[in-house]
Amino acid sequence: MIGRIHSVETCGTVDGPGIRYILFTQGCPLRCKYCHNPDTWKMNDGREEDTNTLIQDIRKYKSFMTCSGGGLTISGGEPLLQPDFVKDMFIKCKEEGIHTCLDTSGFVSIEKADPVLDYTDLVLLDIKSYNPTVFKDLTGVPLDPTLAFAKHLKERNIPVWIRYVYVPGLTDDKKDIEDLAQFLTTLPNVQRVDLLPFHKMGEFKWEQLGYEYSLFDTEQPSKSEVEEVKEIFKKYNLPIYA
Ligand code: SF4
Repeated sequence: MIGRIHSVETCGTVDGPGIRYILFTQGCPLRCKYCHNPDTWKMNDGREEDTNTLIQDIRKYKSFMTCSGGGLTISGGEPLLQPDFVKDMFIKCKEEGIHTCLDTSGFVSIEKADPVLDYTDLVLLDIKSYNPTVFKDLTGVPLDPTLAFAKHLKERNIPVWIRYVYVPGLTDDKKDIEDLAQFLTTLPNVQRVDLLPFHKMGEFKWEQLGYEYSLFDTEQPSKSEVEEVKEIFKKYNLPIYA
């Protein structure tokens, strides 16, 4: 099965548990203002790879994955733009006893996602804001499909790690954060909430690609700001990590 990928990282440690082989797929329907991988957006960029070739490469790292409780993470871009490819990759991993993790925006067709979820051990789900207006302004797409996907993962009882990027002046409204925390308390399958402070590491890519970066003047949040937001999630007894 052929898929279109952006790149691979062989020993990732931040996209799921343990040491992971990270496969970044090409193509994304969102246009997040803080995206640090804008070079994954266009479906026609990147390169084609075959799942047979990829699984051969992944096998080389199996001992690191097994010892560390890691596995394969498919990230993007948006992996679920290529559901057949991701499913085939995950089936191959399950045959090898390798843990599978899907990193998604949740802006997906549940019907197309379901066959992939049959072989998914963990979902990393980005909820970029709980405020529909802010979400649309930030990503260019509506919030509802992501929330519907989150509820669907609950119904299927698939373990989820939530990711939320705190951006001063954009996703920092305390009521919106409280609303998000409250929503997360309704999802017992959420094992962890990652609070990711905004950073500017991808800024140079926007310049290289000739895209206009609107967060040029936005500062990275201070430690005390991050602590304050952490406290909100703690208040709701959520397993928050920052
Ligand atoms: S969903 Fe991810 S890859 Fe797509 S635009 Fe947003 S941050 Fe970038």
